[in-house]
Amino acid sequence: GSQRIIDELEKELKAQNLSEEVKVIKTGCFGLCALGPIMIVYPEGSFYSRVTPEDMHEIVSEHLVKGRIVKRLLYSETVENDTVKSLNETTFYKKQHRIALRNCGVINPEDINEYIAYDGYQALGKVLTEMTPDDVIKIIKDSGLRGRGGGGFPTGLKWSFAKASVSDKKYVCCNADEGDPGAFMDRSVLEGDPHAVIEAMAIAGYAIGADQGYIYVRAEYPIAVKRLEIAIKQAREEGFLGENIFGTGFNFNLELRLGAGAFVCGEETALMTSIEGNRGEPRPRPPFPAVKGLFGKPTVLNNVETYANVAQIILHGAEWFSAMGTEKSKGTKVFALGGKIHNTGLVEVPMGTTLREIVEEIGGGIPNGKKFKAAQTGGPSGGCIPAEHLDIPIDYDNLIAIGSMMGSGGLIVMDEDTCMVDIAKFFLEFTVEESCGKCTPCRVGTKRLYEILDRITKGKGKLSDLDELDDLCHYIKDNALCGLGQTAPNPVLSTMHFFRDEYLAHIVDKK
Ligand code: SF4
Repeated sequence: GSQRIIDELEKELKAQNLSEEVKVIKTGCFGLCALGPIMIVYPEGSFYSRVTPEDMHEIVSEHLVKGRIVKRLLYSETVENDTVKSLNETTFYKKQHRIALRNCGVINPEDINEYIAYDGYQALGKVLTEMTPDDVIKIIKDSGLRGRGGGGFPTGLKWSFAKASVSDKKYVCCNADEGDPGAFMDRSVLEGDPHAVIEAMAIAGYAIGADQGYIYVRAEYPIAVKRLEIAIKQAREEGFLGENIFGTGFNFNLELRLGAGAFVCGEETALMTSIEGNRGEPRPRPPFPAVKGLFGKPTVLNNVETYANVAQIILHGAEWFSAMGTEKSKGTKVFALGGKIHNTGLVEVPMGTTLREIVEEIGGGIPNGKKFKAAQTGGPSGGCIPAEHLDIPIDYDNLIAIGSMMGSGGLIVMDEDTCMVDIAKFFLEFTVEESCGKCTPCRVGTKRLYEILDRITKGKGKLSDLDELDDLCHYIKDNALCGLGQTAPNPVLSTMHFFRDEYLAHIVDKK
């Protein structure tokens, strides 16, 4: 509904003769979705939340004309004893460290000059004029950056494999096919800071020796698509894409490809098959994309959030980045916080932040005085983390150790009223729907899993069903062709492990 607010604001500014003096800037998401739509008035930085078109008259006539802040619309945490505090001091933001989201909600994503004003394209300039491709790969390796799309593979290592592959043509791809239920961090970066991805892809192109890139983005993200199109056009016009960039002889072009909504196209080989114009089905690995990827050529594929970190690492150095996080997971991670939580939204925290800090402090806890039961990370590929692990520092390895995974960063909070068998069934239903059907363990196995779960939730399950579930889960994990099938049983396995009593409670026939 923000466009209606902007229209009304512009109407009011015109009516009160302020159109020339006050500039209205549309930005991307600020992160605190629970308070949207929001509006910030500068230079004071007054943070108005849950604004409506009807509030625009008062904001213009009181704040902009008379200089009196409209207190009833201020986010309550930004006011203390009549003084207005910075947003960075509020509970939602004070523990956050925004690197990937640094420009979201800050700049106008449709104006390249605003990106440039925040050091945009400086990293590309530095790379092309001061560094060799090996220097670039070394700094990314030393930073410890790992892929933010799910697997957590070291980004610099991936780039080094693609560079080492000898070929007349190489490609750089961006996975913007974010499909996990509850995940919207990539969408936010693309809508709020598209040039960060474009700049990083050009840097990756220079590092591995590629002159062509593709961004594979879901067609269901029309604002992201529109802003990417604008950003690519502007980057071309300003000479950051195209031939002979900065007069260095380096060429790099970028095109968009729209995904049609298949979850499996987020899997890297399926994504590349889809870019090639074929049905988006995974293919066996090896060969890995760094050796034989898009159109059979060496390819680097990273997701949006991974790329959003790259320019900052080049500008601030590997040590700066690796100083944040845990021993094996460096930097920050963006989580899409949703479910039974006060502050739904996007949060970016250093790796190693505990789940308790995210849920109870940043997230503001569970509504209606209910108790925390579990948090689901990693979407349909992840698992449920119970209250006993609330103090675990979140990083790639710790999450795997407790049967979940980072995934792309969806974090769904559940309260004491949530049935964990229903949750497992919900994710299985999604997987059954999204299985591409190429291999039997996933195509048939997930369907059988779903049927057993359905039986259990309808009170028709038997005790032996639990053993059958367990066997089938491990069979699918071991035998499915791609990551979708291999991780599909995770929600079942983790809920059976931590919440077996809930499965038993559904089973009438305990023999
Ligand atoms: Fe397709 Fe599932 Fe097999 Fe992956 S695991 S190839 S999604 S059927």
